Amino acid sequence: MTADTVAELAGKLAIPADKLQKNIDDYNSYCDHGQDPDFFKNPDYLVGKFYSGAYGTVGGVKINENCQVLDDDDKAIPVLYSAGSDTNTIYANSYNFTLPGNTMGFAVNSGRIAGLEAAKLIK
Ligand SMILES: Cc1cc2nc3c(=O)[nH]c(=O)nc-3n(C[C@H](O)[C@H](O)[C@H](O)COP(=O)(O)OP(=O)(O)OC[C@H]3O[C@@H](n4cnc5c(N)ncnc54)[C@H](O)[C@@H]3O)c2cc1C
Repeated sequence: MTADTVAELAGKLAIPADKLQKNIDDYNSYCDHGQDPDFFKNPDYLVGKFYSGAYGTVGGVKINENCQVLDDDDKAIPVLYSAGSDTNTIYANSYNFTLPGNTMGFAVNSGRIAGLEAAKLIK
C-alpha cells in the first residue's frame, strides 16, 4: 500500500493518523539517537529506511546442470560455479508457495553439486 502522506496512509489503513505519526516520529528519533527505549532494538538495525526483500534473488546467474556459470553464448566459464538464490532461475519471476522448502532445497542441492564439481577439478 502506498500514500503520499502519513495521514493518507493512516486513512487507507483505517488506523488513527496521530498515533501512526507519533510512532514514526518516535522511531525516527530512536534512529537518530541510536537507542530504542520501547523495544530495545539492536542499535545496528535502527535505520530510518526499510527495504523489503524476501525469499532470495531468483533468476540471476545462468548455470548448466553441473552448476557451471554460463556466458552469453551458453558456454561454461571454466572454474566458475554458482548455486542457491544467486542462480535460482527455476522460479524466474514467480514463486511456488504450495511447495514448502523448494528454494532452500535448491540452495542446498545446487551448492552440493557445485562443490562436487569443483572437487573433481582439484583432483
Ligand atoms: C523470510 C524468508 C523466509 C524463507 N522461507 C523459506 C521457506 O520456508 N522455504 C524455503 O525453501 N526457502 C525459504 N526462504 C529462502 C531461503 O532462505 C533461501 O532460498 C536460501 O537461504 C538461499 O540460500 P543461499 O545459500 O543461496 O543464500 P543465503 O542463505 O542468503 O546465503 C548467502 C550467504 O552469503 C553471505 N555473503 C553475502 N555477501 C558476502 C560476501 N561478499 N562475502 C562473504 N559472504 C557473503 C551472506 O552473509 C549469507 O550468509 C526464505 C527466505 C526468507 C528471507
